[in-house]
Amino acid sequence: MKIISTPIELKEYLKNENRSIGFIPTMGALHEGHISLIKKAKEQNELVIVSIFLNPTQFLRGEDLDKYPKKDEADKQICKLCGVDILFFPKTDDIYSSDEVSLLAPKVRGYVLEGESRPSHFNGVLTVVMKLLNIVSPTRAYFGKKDAQQLNLISLMVKQFFMSVEIVAVDTVREKDGLALSSRNAYLTPLQRVEALKISTSLRSATAMVMRGILDSELIVANMREILSPLDISYVAILNREFTQISKVELGNSVILVEASVGNTRLLDNIWL
Ligand code: AMP
Repeated sequence: MKIISTPIELKEYLKNENRSIGFIPTMGALHEGHISLIKKAKEQNELVIVSIFLNPTQFLRGEDLDKYPKKDEADKQICKLCGVDILFFPKTDDIYSSDEVSLLAPKVRGYVLEGESRPSHFNGVLTVVMKLLNIVSPTRAYFGKKDAQQLNLISLMVKQFFMSVEIVAVDTVREKDGLALSSRNAYLTPLQRVEALKISTSLRSATAMVMRGILDSELIVANMREILSPLDISYVAILNREFTQISKVELGNSVILVEASVGNTRLLDNIWL
């Protein structure tokens, strides 16, 4: 595995590359969720590139940028073992300068749900993803369905900016007991980890209601809020795949999303029905 740290070096290295490229952008502290994206990319492409870049512009002041888990050596080993061809490991100064052009998230879809409590978050996400896609020029880029709003906005950006990369959505990987894998799970105490299970339990219960034919969004959300209490809930929402609120679940076209805090840790999860 080749490790490259600057955009110029990576662009130069890929200059005459004709093979298909699968790209997985990450912020490191890799887990089985990231590994499933890498595996999918390995299946579908001849060359696989992973980036590890803790993107400062998607963190708001006071968020966990400084204490975000860092596992550089373990991450390198994981990438090597997974058969990654190139690990792109830039520093902040390699990606950002002091006077920057940047992207703005769409005024509606970028400022609901996670964007409501983290107003500039998706500007940072879209800007860095645009930069990384331009550096790597991949055939396909892989994103987790776990970050459904991020996936939706990146797909929108690629469409609206007429970019030629294919965005591939990958299912959420969970622990055996249902907890969605996340680098932030490392912040949870054993007791908080048990509390956090309420999130996946609420989604399982919502799925069971839908399977019983209960499609009314209000009823489903009320039931989920009951299961989630007393967690600090940021939102429980039922949307269609275009990310518009719907009053009834449409099978094959719906996403139920939750964000709740356990202690100081904000956790996201969702189910696609
Ligand atoms: P992050 O390092 O948290 O920015 O995540 C990098 C990519 O991995 C994003 O596309 C995430 O959606 C995806 N990802 C994170 N957790 C999971 C998971 N449990 N299952 C599948 N993909 C995930």
